[in-house]
Amino acid sequence: MESQKKHSLQFSFEFFPPKTDKGVEKLRAVRDRLGALKPKYFSVTYGAGGSTQQGTFDTVMSIRQAGFDTAPHLTCIGASRQDLRELLQRYIDNDIQRIVALRGDMPSGMHSSGEFHYANELVAFIRAEFGDHFHIEVAAYPEFHPQARNAQNDLDNFKRKIEAGANSAITQYFFNPDAYFRFIDDCERLDIKVPIVPGIMPITNYSNLARFSDMCGAEIPRWIRKRLEAFADDTDSIKAFGEDVVTDLGHQLLEAGAPGLHFYSMNQADASMAIWKNLGL
Ligand code: FAD
Repeated sequence: MESQKKHSLQFSFEFFPPKTDKGVEKLRAVRDRLGALKPKYFSVTYGAGGSTQQGTFDTVMSIRQAGFDTAPHLTCIGASRQDLRELLQRYIDNDIQRIVALRGDMPSGMHSSGEFHYANELVAFIRAEFGDHFHIEVAAYPEFHPQARNAQNDLDNFKRKIEAGANSAITQYFFNPDAYFRFIDDCERLDIKVPIVPGIMPITNYSNLARFSDMCGAEIPRWIRKRLEAFADDTDSIKAFGEDVVTDLGHQLLEAGAPGLHFYSMNQADASMAIWKNLGL
């Protein structure tokens, strides 16, 4: 963990672009509550294939106008160079300096036009077109990406993104801190020195978490799964247990030298705030 300890701590929250006016209004209130905690930035997800392009842009702008730093996510699968160039230029014109650069997953029924295949190509493209304007974050997978050929290959591919010019990384969420510690050790052996900020998923709902974890390859340890299953519809118990487990995870990560935390807020303030408070941030 030595390479991570020297970075200054950074905390951030992730939102997705709301689909309804009510969602927009609710997110504004969530943003203001979380903004009072003074995070480094709020990031906003992007629907691969461009499905939320305007929603992501609008959400980012409203965060920016409220005086907070913000980082739009951007996926390259299915996008053309020209589309991405225009969107990135729009961000530059609106004083956005941070981007989370991803490959994304092609939505079912859509086919890639094939200009980009992997996130390292997007990072290289952003650097070639816009130099050092953007601080570029990329994704990291301590439990390995579900499509990775093997663990070593995934690490090598992660390194490609850093070599292409990424400044730092945010991890997929995980509940086993050893996966992160080992990942960092492997990165150190590969001479990867950028901050790798753990992504933290507050637990508030078991079925959604189980479904999403299956899709993205995040493991819910058996002891957590069994307890969450046993709570059935008792959401208060799920939340209390989840808060306890994720607080403990955050403690272990920060104590070991993780360079901050990125909260997958799911557009909710309460769960992230409770963990934040328990961690004494
Ligand atoms: P890559 O780094 O390109 O890796 C994808 C796979 O390809 C891996 O298995 C890797 O090992 C392999 N690979 C990479 N490079 C090469 C290469 N050169 N040759 C051969 N194989 C290679 N999705 C969204 O749609 N919108 C979002 O806003 C979004 N935000 C995210 C934020 C974070 C922090 C994380 C962790 C994920 C996010 N995702 C998002 C999900 C992400 O798009 C998916 O996990 C996607 O499958 C991979 O994206 P990536 O950028 O990690 O891809």
